[in-house]
Amino acid sequence: MKLFDPHIHMTSRTTDDYEAMARAGIVAVVEPAFWLGQPRTHPGTFEDYFLSLVGWERFRASQFGIRHFCTLALNPKEANNPGVASGVLELLPRYLEKDGVVAVGEVGFDDMTPAEERAFLAQLELARRFELPVLVHTPHRDKRRGTERSLALVREARFPERLVLIDHNTEETLPLVLDSGCWAAHSIYPHTKMDEPRMVALVTKYGPERILVNSAADWGVSDPLKVPKTAALMRESGLDEAVIETVFWRNPVAFFAQSGRLEDVAERPRIDQARLFEGSSVLRGGQSPVVER
Ligand SMILES: [Zn+2]
Repeated sequence: MKLFDPHIHMTSRTTDDYEAMARAGIVAVVEPAFWLGQPRTHPGTFEDYFLSLVGWERFRASQFGIRHFCTLALNPKEANNPGVASGVLELLPRYLEKDGVVAVGEVGFDDMTPAEERAFLAQLELARRFELPVLVHTPHRDKRRGTERSLALVREARFPERLVLIDHNTEETLPLVLDSGCWAAHSIYPHTKMDEPRMVALVTKYGPERILVNSAADWGVSDPLKVPKTAALMRESGLDEAVIETVFWRNPVAFFAQSGRLEDVAERPRIDQARLFEGSSVLRGGQSPVVER
């Protein structure tokens, strides 16, 4: 079965991770633009970050047989930095039209400030203009209120709910999202939030419709194999293959295909490590390239 990790920050991960993910059945990933840990000091650094998501990282994934797509946005946390926020909103339109950009995101709330709400609304309008879906991050603190406010904002903006994916859900927030027309994603982290058994229980209770699972792996304590691990536990727990395939493949494909840009998603890129991207290779001197025929 083909697997899709619809939220993973590969820029922060290693080539070993790419190899292990491909071996475990992951064919495609979506990498949302996010906070880098280190606060940015000027909008220009976002520009190079966006370019690396549509360029170098996409190439790097292909070198290990993985299809890479991304979502671009001003993230909720840095919406609070007046030194970068307006500049990033101005440069976003230039990047939202690029190949491989399948949504606007992650937008949403971190601390539930007025600045976050303004950036969220402005980016819903950008999504409308570029006819793209939206990936919405929900806050770690006060998740229920953040989710309710996000759903209300989408409704107030009259943005189509079928184009909205609310992320990082829990037992408390999933029913709220399913009651709207939005899609619901779940991040499976080691030791916190949602884990594999809780995810199996949710799909057993609610079924697979509009439900997605991701690893949200990044530079923190996280695991890029949480998607295959959760799929395996669903299988062991006796859930139907059709249900598993809906959650781990059909749903992410259906959601992001609404961008019209999910090209060749079901087909692994042919590995050719002899190729270069703007003069750079994933190999170091003396390593011999893997080239699939
Ligand atoms: Zn993320």
